[in-house]
Amino acid sequence: MGDISYASPNLGTVTGITLPDTATVLNVEEYGSSPPTHERTGFPKQGGQSLSYWLQQVRCDPLLDHRTTEELPEEVDTVIIGSGITGSLVAKSHLQIWPEKRIVILEAREFCSGATGRNAGHCKPDQWRHFVKFEKAFGTEQALKILQNEQVTWQALVEYIQGNRVDCDLWIGDTFDVPLDHEVAKIAKEMFDRYVEVGGKVDHIKVTQDPVEAAKVSRIKSAKACYAWPASTLQPWKLTASIMRDNINHGANLQTFTVAQSVVESPSNRQKWVVKTDRGDIACDTVVHATNAYSAAIESSLKGIIAPTPHMCNKVIPPRSWSGSKAIQNSYGVLLPDGGLFSINPRCTADGVVMFGGSNPGQKKLDQYIERHPERCVDDGFARVDDVTKHVRNFVDKEFEGWNAGEIGPGEGFDYSWSGIIGRSADGVPFVGELPDKPGQWICAGHHGHGMARIFTAAPGLVKLMNGETWSATGLPDVYKMTPERLQNIKLPRPRIR
Ligand SMILES: Cc1cc2nc3c(=O)[nH]c(=O)nc-3n(C[C@H](O)[C@H](O)[C@H](O)COP(=O)(O)OP(=O)(O)OC[C@H]3O[C@@H](n4cnc5c(N)ncnc54)[C@H](O)[C@@H]3O)c2cc1C
Repeated sequence: MGDISYASPNLGTVTGITLPDTATVLNVEEYGSSPPTHERTGFPKQGGQSLSYWLQQVRCDPLLDHRTTEELPEEVDTVIIGSGITGSLVAKSHLQIWPEKRIVILEAREFCSGATGRNAGHCKPDQWRHFVKFEKAFGTEQALKILQNEQVTWQALVEYIQGNRVDCDLWIGDTFDVPLDHEVAKIAKEMFDRYVEVGGKVDHIKVTQDPVEAAKVSRIKSAKACYAWPASTLQPWKLTASIMRDNINHGANLQTFTVAQSVVESPSNRQKWVVKTDRGDIACDTVVHATNAYSAAIESSLKGIIAPTPHMCNKVIPPRSWSGSKAIQNSYGVLLPDGGLFSINPRCTADGVVMFGGSNPGQKKLDQYIERHPERCVDDGFARVDDVTKHVRNFVDKEFEGWNAGEIGPGEGFDYSWSGIIGRSADGVPFVGELPDKPGQWICAGHHGHGMARIFTAAPGLVKLMNGETWSATGLPDVYKMTPERLQNIKLPRPRIR
């Protein structure tokens, strides 16, 4: 990391919030999308979905359409709806606490074919960037806790992968946050300084505010500063599949291509709930909604609380001028003027194919389209959206020296883009806990496009709550807790994040 210095160390959402003036520019997660005006929702799209690079890589894996038993069980202890990283980790913790209990995991389509199987493959704990936004929304203590929790979550994910030798292309290294103009660099510095001022831990963050040094270290011509700290990239489907295989070995019943349509009170006294599916009913005592973006389709009280929003990811095969010894060696958050962000995952421990996700400036157009066509809010069939891809092209052409130096041949360059549905939380942080007025129904959802840095602690935290443990035992920030007050508060009319 060259001459980048270490910042002086110390130690330390959005309820329809009013943001500090400067924070609006770095609200990268919300940047692409203004708050949805429709209380839109929907079930997972059946047919015509795009295939992410991750899903393309596993077409012969039998877990994709696995059914542990031919028929659905008529009665179990717990039904988990959703087989993404949340549902898989909830099942894992459940099996650890109650090995004798019968659990079934329902998945509407192929195993892990929601956001987890379609994301940009980045587990990047926020270590300063959204601090001011969270502080404004939730106060200093909670904002510090959110960032601390992201660090703990990243460590838990890495420990699990390394401890279980999971083959999922794990990379651990310095991720860079790189402001692209002076205004963004100034705001970023203000945020970072505020975080330091309140005791935020930054001894693991290397910072340069010198544009020449930042451009050299980051290899981005217009870099005005560079913040570097440890993070990871990985193949998210393979990680989730490894967890689920272990669950199945320990007695879990996975049922793919099974849509949970509703959850109703059981007519009998023996069990509390009945999960109605397109293949029959399952009676149970406990239901876990691990349905993220789709949560409100089953639980209508979550309309307007968790909003499904299509997001894009571009797959790019670097040209020869950026391959081999010249391949990208770090992951990035490129902080764009006006608050956009490219997240870059260069897969440097795998095939070097580069993923561009994040809040691309073109995302706004896609979101405006969805506002006009809310019925497509769960459509992950979007692919090759030029309005999004053109911004990535412009960025690499302008900022990566020599990217276009040679003729781009077949098999190089921009391959395609796919879509996935993020679960935007109305206040910017996830919902973890029991559904109000529905004892025995639990939720861990609304990960706001950032679940890889949250779910490895949020899902086990939920199971602790299911086991009767206190909120503090979860170690999660208080503001993640699902409470009736939080839902009511969100529904109050007030200024909202952009
Ligand atoms: C394009 C894109 C890029 C992203 N990039 C990143 C990133 O780089 N880093 C990061 O931290 N986060 C990223 N995210 C967000 C991250 O992927 C999510 O926060 C996380 O995967 C959510 O996991 P989950 O298990 O809660 O939800 P999901 O993975 O969506 O799982 C929910 C599952 O429930 C199933 N389901 C829903 N309803 C039903 C029903 N009624 N019956 C049966 N099954 C049902 C769905 O089919 C789905 O498989 C990205 C998301 C997208 C879309």
